[in-house]
Formats: sequence, C-alpha cells, structure tokens
Amino acid sequence: MTGLTLALSKGRILEESLPLLERIGLAPAGDIDRLLRVPSQNPDVSLLIIRPTDVPPYVEYGAADIGIVGKDILMEHGGTGLYEPLDIDIAKCRLSVAVVKGHTPPRNRRLRIATKYPEIARRHYAAKGQQVEIIKLYGSMELAPLVGLADQIVDLVATGNTLRANGLVEIEKICDVSSRLVVNKASMKMKHAALRQLLDAFASAGATLNA
Ligand code: AMP
Repeated sequence: MTGLTLALSKGRILEESLPLLERIGLAPAGDIDRLLRVPSQNPDVSLLIIRPTDVPPYVEYGAADIGIVGKDILMEHGGTGLYEPLDIDIAKCRLSVAVVKGHTPPRNRRLRIATKYPEIARRHYAAKGQQVEIIKLYGSMELAPLVGLADQIVDLVATGNTLRANGLVEIEKICDVSSRLVVNKASMKMKHAALRQLLDAFASAGATLNA
C-alpha cells in the first residue's frame, strides 16, 4: 500500500474517532497526548494530531492525504479545495443561536453576535436580511452574552447542558453537525487504490456515503 497520512482533529472528535480507528486497524501506536505525528497499527498509515481548524489546510495542501474534521469547520473554511466523501457520524451536535433567557434585542444598534464561526454567522444573518455585528471569539462563547459583550451567540450545542448551566436558551438551529472524512484532491488521483481501500474500511465501519 502507498504511504498515507491521516490528520485527526484533537479533542472531542479524536476521542470519538478512536473506537472507529481501532475497528479498521488504524489505532494510534504511540502517545497521542504528547506526539503530533504518530504511527498507526497499519505501517502504511501515519497519523497527525492537530487542531480541528488546521485539518482543512493540511489536507488541502497535501500535508495529509485524508482528514477527519467537523462539518462546522468545513462550512467555516469553505471546503472547496477538498473532497468530502464520507459522513462518519461521530461528534454529532448542532450549530445554534442562543441568547440569555428573557433577553430583549437592542433598539438603538445592530445585534452583536459572538462566535467562533464568523463566516457561517455572516451567511446565516445575511440570509435573513438582518444586519449584525459579528465578534469573533476563540472559546467560552457562553460567557459573552452574560457580561454584555454580545446579544446572541452562534455555537455548537450537543446536550444543551452548557447553555442551561449558564442561563442561556437556544432560539434557532442553523444546521446539524457531524464529523466528515475529507480527502486531498491530488491524492485521490495519485494514491487512488490505497485511499479507496481506506474509504471502504471507514464505510464498512459505519460511515455514510455523501451524495
Ligand atoms: P453541551 O453542553 O453538551 O451542549 O456541549 C456544548 C459545549 O461543548 C459547547 O462549549 C460546544 O462548543 C462544545 N461542543 C459540543 N459538541 C461539540 C463537538 N462535536 N465538537 C466540539 N465541541 C463541541
């Protein structure tokens, strides 16, 4: 088999990927808490452990042949330089708009929206014809409306526990989110047989083919 590099998204997606990787013989054969590049149980496949937002550029530029990343990151990135052949149906959640319970929108200025996803938020409000001010944050979105930084947040919601614990309520779902397998376009041609084998393994382990 041609050597393949698989980029994994650190955090929740990595945790939920491990049983799947185990099932298809690609479990990490090294310390994934410390190493950034680890061999897998398959000598032909090595793994990169990187930040979720870095997976699309690594795969797009061919530093990795294939990657596992959330649909949220792909939507924010644009995702046009990649193939997205499989929905691997893990790390499922939704991207939603939330507000402080009982919050009334301001009359004298634009709504302020705090989010890690400025592109998705921009498209969402533009589609509704709403002029908003978007504030890009890098974490703990739930804090922003509590301290008056923003009127609304656009963030991932899974169980809803984090929102509830902070006195926030979900007012609108933007879309459902799950993890996707993405493939470098040149690798798909040059390493077709090896990639086909890997995609088939993911598919038979429960991933769903994207139309
Ligand atoms: P929950 O309390 O279960 O609704 O989870 C919400 C918190 O977990 C928020 O801070 C989200 O940003 C984060 N979160 C939920 N689902 C995911 C996911 N699939 N990947 C990364 N972060 C997530």
